[in-house]
Amino acid sequence: MGTAERVLAYGGGWLDRAGPLRADPTTLDALLTESTTVLLPMWRDRCLVDGHGPVRLGAERAALVRSAAGETVFLGLDGETAVFAADLSELPERSAVEMAGAVRSVDVRALVGRLEPGDAAVQAYARGLLHWHRQQRFCGTCGAPAVAGGGGHLRTCAGAGCGRLLFPRIEPAIIVLVEAPGRSGRCLLARHAGAAEGAYSTLAGFVEVGESLEDAVRREMTEEAGVTVADVTYQGSQAWPFPAGLMVGFRATATTDEVRVDGEELLEARWFTRAQLRDRVASGRPLGRADSIDHRLLTDWLAEG
Ligand SMILES: [Zn+2]
Repeated sequence: MGTAERVLAYGGGWLDRAGPLRADPTTLDALLTESTTVLLPMWRDRCLVDGHGPVRLGAERAALVRSAAGETVFLGLDGETAVFAADLSELPERSAVEMAGAVRSVDVRALVGRLEPGDAAVQAYARGLLHWHRQQRFCGTCGAPAVAGGGGHLRTCAGAGCGRLLFPRIEPAIIVLVEAPGRSGRCLLARHAGAAEGAYSTLAGFVEVGESLEDAVRREMTEEAGVTVADVTYQGSQAWPFPAGLMVGFRATATTDEVRVDGEELLEARWFTRAQLRDRVASGRPLGRADSIDHRLLTDWLAEG
């Protein structure tokens, strides 16, 4: 089964996003105050958790939280239950935690493995959407304030004669497992600037304006590692709203063995055989973050030989 067919961390959320409801403010207002509705509070990109995980607020506490929240956004439906998220970032951390009936705040990435995958996906979704609202308070065209609408899935410039619509921003990046030429069973891993000694991962970079994903793969591999690649094939994608990423995974084949790192983003790059990677795993060096598509690209490749 290919990478694209299996769910990566932060994907496969249990919510029906119920897009058509975003255009129906009357229904959304009614749902907001229904007794069964769930509100997920967040504080500056962090989940608010109690002893069981991220708190899910019922009607009474939700009303209190909403009154203090910067934005409240509609995430979708869990069966018949409407799910909203509210941003308590304007409060000091302790006040936000207390108001939510939580015990502390924590980054969702620190909870992966302990949370149900669907819950991690919904927390990441809420985090990314609320983060965008905090970053997009004004119109970039005329500088007037922008007002949230569409259940929190757009903002509209309030400037006279402007009215520009602003949509949540996603920043795509490519991540690539490069194989050596000639089916020699080696892949290219690099040590990134700032990474610990001996910590290697696949190569990645942001997609630029006017560039296809495949173009970005070819450019990044040349710029960062001095490697020309061919046979660029899609492997799968991963939501990475930390704060606004979308990781798009590829494989590619190098046309030569020669590697020449840029010395800035990459400090070192070298070819590894599967046996070498297995030895690294056996000696306690993980293949990237367990929640990342980097890890998935490498484990899929290892499983093939
Ligand atoms: Zn404007």
